[in-house]
Amino acid sequence: MHGMGRAAIKLGVVLATALLAADPQSVRGQDHAGTASQAVSDNCTRSTFRVVVDVGHTLDVPGAMSARGVPEYAFNLQLAHQIKQSLVDAGFEQTALLITGTAPWRGLFERAARANAMHADLFISIHHDSVPDNLKQIWEYAGQKNEFNDDYPGYALFISHDNADPVGSLLFGHMLGHELERRNLHYTPHYTLALMGHRRRILVDAEAGVYRYDQLIVLRQTRMPAVLLEAGSIVNRKEELELATPERRSLTSAAIAAAVANFCAARARPPVVKAAVSGH
Ligand SMILES: [Zn+2]
Repeated sequence: MHGMGRAAIKLGVVLATALLAADPQSVRGQDHAGTASQAVSDNCTRSTFRVVVDVGHTLDVPGAMSARGVPEYAFNLQLAHQIKQSLVDAGFEQTALLITGTAPWRGLFERAARANAMHADLFISIHHDSVPDNLKQIWEYAGQKNEFNDDYPGYALFISHDNADPVGSLLFGHMLGHELERRNLHYTPHYTLALMGHRRRILVDAEAGVYRYDQLIVLRQTRMPAVLLEAGSIVNRKEELELATPERRSLTSAAIAAAVANFCAARARPPVVKAAVSGH
């Protein structure tokens, strides 16, 4: 199900970017994102806006392995808990953590089905990144041989054009990338490189680090705007250490809380956005 064409998506982003740049309300939105208070002019009802924070992978099938032998799932779970707390602290008390023990592929469909049943307003899947096997090198850590790649630190965001709301997905991806960048976290551009082979992706937002990955099941099966965040590279020996700190988790969580506040506020202004989008 393709919700909208590429031109419409592009238009949506241009409009969203213009609104962000022109509207002082979005700036105020960032300022109070970390508190439960809300500007009077902001029509977003945080107490009913439901964010589903999906913990990527499962305890038994834990995803990538870090440069020091820690499974991705452990990073995902710890970060997701902090993201939920930051969102609840910001007044998004309906935020739900989505944890499943069901392995892929069934588990991936189950995640989307649960988010749909919860009538979530926004779906964020939390992951930590690795690289294809042919780009890994071997080193020894704590007496064990481990794999690493130090070349591509940084976060990455993914959206699917097969999602029910690709415009909303890209808008939120743009807002989240913007909030991460202004906290001095930078996206990795390596997904555009030929050496990524079948994992090569199209960069749809070069400012915010949003890539297009239509096939991701959790993004294409969800009926609300959905974004997958690779919070950083755990095969990068330096970034792995940073990602394990409360400081880095706080930065990422604060960026998400600010982006959700901005997104909720933008979605709560339908007269402006709708009139502009449907005008042509
Ligand atoms: Zn993952």
